[in-house]
Amino acid sequence: MIHRVGGVASGETAVTAGAPLPVLLVGAGPGDPDLLTVKAARAIAAADVILVDDLVDRRVLDLARADARIVEVGKRGGRASTSQVFIEKLLVHEARSGRRVVRLKGGDPFVFGRGGEEMDALRRAGLEVEVVPGITAGVAAPAAVGIPVTDRRHAPGVAFVTGHAQADGNGPDWPALARSGLTLVIYMGVARCAEISTALLEAGLAPTTPAGVIQSACTPQQRSHLGTLSTLADDIDRLSIAAPAILVIGDVVRMAHKWNATLALPVRDRVAV
Ligand code: SAH
Repeated sequence: MIHRVGGVASGETAVTAGAPLPVLLVGAGPGDPDLLTVKAARAIAAADVILVDDLVDRRVLDLARADARIVEVGKRGGRASTSQVFIEKLLVHEARSGRRVVRLKGGDPFVFGRGGEEMDALRRAGLEVEVVPGITAGVAAPAAVGIPVTDRRHAPGVAFVTGHAQADGNGPDWPALARSGLTLVIYMGVARCAEISTALLEAGLAPTTPAGVIQSACTPQQRSHLGTLSTLADDIDRLSIAAPAILVIGDVVRMAHKWNATLALPVRDRVAV
């Protein structure tokens, strides 16, 4: 049964006696339930209470017990997103009540998932936390279109960065990243793709640098576009590609399925034009 945040008080489940169990911070992976770890699947199946984010593919919740309480704490259906303070209080309350609590997050809980903040809050409350890593979108989305993010023939490594402007103006150092030679994997970057591309081009990345975007990777709605850095932002606009999506910039993008070796003609992979 799914309880929205407003219904938190109802449907209390059986309580275990003794010390609270560790709260499990569980990565739900990028979408496809087959990409869950075995440990994540077991944790979901055993949980009394599951606090779940927007990004988590709802098919994953089919593994939950029929009597588990599922609390949606994301901003679905136009509702305001649940505050981080509320989420942390609820986690503490549920764990102290002796329930098996799973905090389920898309991808990996510690990669742009605020898992660290929640772990801190739980520890401050004297509770134990166990982390179950998940496959992060920054690896899964490129892989879904055949891009190996650290192929050693093209890049010495990969940088995972946020494209979201920070409130304090402290975003990634784009010029340094442009010079690094690393594959750039950008989360939350679709809306700011034009600014990001401009910063990278101004810092010296070639306009022909291969660049791609993968939306809703590992779900039935997956779409992607592979092209070059100079046109990526326009392509995203023209194709109405929207969040959640990953941007990948660097020579490894050339290795994607269906990549057109000439680079002059960007190809589309499962894009509905
Ligand atoms: N903890 C998550 C990331 C959360 S930040 C993880 O490890 O994957 C949210 C951003 O992740 C989205 O804006 C998008 O950039 C990316 N993302 C998450 N799931 C995605 C998916 N299935 N396809 C493409 N991008 C995804």
